[in-house]
Order: sequence, then C-alpha cells, then structure tokens
Amino acid sequence: MVDWHLNCLKTFQNLQKDNREIMNCQRTLASTMHCAGIGLHTGREVNLTLRPASVDTGVVFVRTDLPEAVSIRASMRTVAASAFATTLENRGVSITTVEHLLAAISGLEIDNVIAEVNAPEVPIMDGSAAPFVSLIQEVGIVEQLKPRQYLVIRKPVRIEDGGRWIEVCPCENLKVSYTVEYDHPLISRQSYHVCFPERTFAGEISPARTFGFLSDVAALQSKGFARGGSLENAVVLGDFNVLNKEGLRFPDEFVRHKILDLIGDFALLGYPLVAHVTAHKSGHEMNHRLLKEVLSREDCWEMKELPRESTQKLPRVSISHREPRERLSA
Ligand SMILES: [Zn+2]
Repeated sequence: MVDWHLNCLKTFQNLQKDNREIMNCQRTLASTMHCAGIGLHTGREVNLTLRPASVDTGVVFVRTDLPEAVSIRASMRTVAASAFATTLENRGVSITTVEHLLAAISGLEIDNVIAEVNAPEVPIMDGSAAPFVSLIQEVGIVEQLKPRQYLVIRKPVRIEDGGRWIEVCPCENLKVSYTVEYDHPLISRQSYHVCFPERTFAGEISPARTFGFLSDVAALQSKGFARGGSLENAVVLGDFNVLNKEGLRFPDEFVRHKILDLIGDFALLGYPLVAHVTAHKSGHEMNHRLLKEVLSREDCWEMKELPRESTQKLPRVSISHREPRERLSA
C-alpha cells in the first residue's frame, strides 16, 4: 500500500516536472536590484529596489517612506489617474509614473517582483525603459516552478474616440502596430509594427525616451507636472528641432516610446496578453479604457497556459529552473 502511494506521488511529481518543461513558466529576478533617480513630475529624489517574488505575486509596489509600508498592486483595479502618467493607489497611498518600469518588467517577461520606492513616484532615469532593462539583465532572471497563465484574445475588442482608436484582435503572439500623428514637422505621422519576444523589446523599444514640446512646458509645470523634467530625461521639441544635443536615438523614437507606454499600460492586466494590438493616436487613458472593456467582456478572451514553442521563436536570455536566491511574498 505504501509502495502504491509512493509510486502515485512519483508519477504526479514527474507529470508536474514534464509540465514545467513543456509549458512557459513564471519568471522573477535572480536577486535584488537597486537604482536611484528623480521623479519626472514631482522632481523628488527616489530610491528604487526590485526584489524577487514568489509565484503568483504579480508586480507589487511598496511605499517604504511612510510610517507603515503600504503595498500597491499593479492592476487595473488600482489605477487612480492616467493624465500624463499612470498613477496607482491603495488605501489613499499612491505611486505614479509606473509605466516605464512596468514596460521593462513586462517586456522582459517577468511575472513576479516587489518594487520598493521611498517616494510617491518611480524614478524617470533617462526617460526610457533601457536603464531598468540593463539593470534587470545584470542581476538576471530565473524561471519559477509554476506555468504562466496568458490572457488570450478570442474576439476583437475596439474602442474609438473621434479620430483616435485602439483594438485587440486574435493573434498567435503579442504584436503591436501603432500610429502617432502630431502637428510637428519632426513627428508628423509615424507608424511602427513589432512582435514581442524579449530581444525585440530590449533593443527596439526600451531605449525610446518620453518626449514633450517646449511650448507646453510652462503650462505643464504650473499644473504640477514635469517638475523634474529636463533634457537629461526627455526629448524636448522646439518649433522645428530637437533641443537635446545628442539628437534622437531613432528617427521614429516618438512612436516607439508610445509602444513602450502601451506595453507598460497593458502590464496592468496582470497576465501577458496574446493578441494583435492596433493603436491610432492612443494614450494612457485610452489604453486603460480598452483594458477595462476587454476585462468586462469575458466571451472575448480566455486564460491559458502556453507551450514553449508557441511563444519562443527567438533566442532568449539563459534561464534555469530554480527559485531566486532571495524571495519575498507580497
Ligand atoms: Zn512614457
């Protein structure tokens, strides 16, 4: 009888192991990462620490500058504002400008992480997600012992607002097609199409910086935004030129940054999306509205585990089946 139980247990453990080898598993950091910088809108100094987290934790921000630390989950349920930046809130405590960090985490296919900040805003770094990406790649990423759930779109969902729109359609992988239009000679109309295994995100999207127009700066600052903004952390456009001495990182840096923002916004779903997202002049607020619409229409999507070969068409960072050196539960 004891043998029979042992055999059953071994079979079950082998099945679990086989399942982990066949399916895409959740991922977290291999160890803790630190950085510091200033907040784009508040202009305040911020320290950021990213810690590995257990399976099914998701991304959880922790404000460590308060008498009692408050956790704020990155989720559509905690979105409090979408103007100029995404602000999340829990029990009256908020964290803002989360989108570039969330884009780095999501773009590198990390599921579980604790992000500690000692201020109400994530540091802006150089205005892109590239510093977060290289710091995360330095500490490394590990695969965890549980398959990842994907949110797979089964029917199209679209929202429109005047000449702006965004939609998700069924697709075998995550693809984003984005078009921006600005009445400025350096931007005018730009389109970009990208498929998202992680190498593409790190190389093509993560270095694209946030941007703004010199003519808007005074009005923004009078409303309390962009107080930490400078040529060090944003592309600033004059009437006919880029004011940054180093120029642009890509001729189409503007539309690439809008894709970066979209990836950060979509991380608020809590699960990687499998869909073709097409956006025309969208922004944080419209991205969030689309996600709410998707979540409210349960016939349009399903949660699924996906086998490795369906999502891994390009080489990935080396990963191993182990738990991180340091773990933290949310
Ligand atoms: Zn941005």
